[in-house]
Amino acid sequence: MPVGFILFCFRNAAAGEQQKLNTILQMTFEMAVKEVHLLHDGYLELDMGMLVYMKTQYYGIKYQAALKPLLIITDSENMLVDTGIAPLPPSLAKFVKFTKDIDIVQSLSSYGLSTDDISVVVNTHMHLDHCGNNRLFTRANYVVQKAELDYSKNPDRFMRGGYVREFYEDLRFETVDGRNEITNGVTVMDTPGHTPGHQSVIVQAGGRKIVYTGDAAPLLENLERRDITGIIYDPKKELESIDRLRAEGGEVIASHDLLQMKFDLIVQ
Ligand SMILES: [Zn+2]
Repeated sequence: MPVGFILFCFRNAAAGEQQKLNTILQMTFEMAVKEVHLLHDGYLELDMGMLVYMKTQYYGIKYQAALKPLLIITDSENMLVDTGIAPLPPSLAKFVKFTKDIDIVQSLSSYGLSTDDISVVVNTHMHLDHCGNNRLFTRANYVVQKAELDYSKNPDRFMRGGYVREFYEDLRFETVDGRNEITNGVTVMDTPGHTPGHQSVIVQAGGRKIVYTGDAAPLLENLERRDITGIIYDPKKELESIDRLRAEGGEVIASHDLLQMKFDLIVQ
C-alpha cells in the first residue's frame, strides 16, 4: 500500500489517535510533491451554453472541450486527478461526441509512466468525461467525495446522462467528506454545485500553489467573472464554490479550457 494512502487512511482514523499517528508517520515518511503535469485525453464536443449558465450568446456554439487529467508525482507515489473519457454505451454514444489526438495512456507514457504506476486516482466528480478511464488503473485506489459516490449510484433523471455506471461501479473507492489533505501537499476541497459531491484539488509544490478546479470552473471565465457553469445541480452552491475557489488564489487550472493546454512543474 502506498505511503500516501496509509497517511490518508490514518487521517480518517478516530480523532483521538489521528494526530499522534500523523506525527509519527510524517516523521518517518516526509513526503513532498516533486512534479505536476497536465495530461491530455482528447476533446469532448460541448455546446458552449453548457459551460456558462444563461449566457445566451454562447448557445449553439460548439466547443471542443479539452480533457486534461492532472498527474502529480510525489517522492513515493504517482497520483492522477480525473481520467478522461472512454467509449460510451450506444444509448449515449449517439449524443456525446469526442475525439482523441492523444489518449491518457500515451500522455502518461511521455513521462515514463504506465497505468500500473498510478497508485491513487482522485475523481473531481463521476461525470463520464472525468472517470471514463478509471478502470485502466488497476492498482489504484480512488478518492471521491462521499456525496458524489452516493449520488452517482442513483442520479436524478435530469443528471442521469452524465453518469455512466460502467465507468466506476465496484471500484475501490475511498470516500472523503469535505476538505481533506490526502497526502502531503495534495488537498481535496469540496466544491459542490455542478454535481452534489464535486471536489477540486489543491497542490502545493516548490513554494507554488496550483488549484485544479474540475468542473466547478470548466473555463477560466467561470472563475474570473463569477459566472457559474451551465450544467448545474445546485446553482447557489456552485456560486459559493466559485467564491471559495477565488479566495484560494494560487495558479488556477480550469478543467476544459482550451486556453490552458500545458502545465509542467518540476520541483528542483
Ligand atoms: Zn467535464
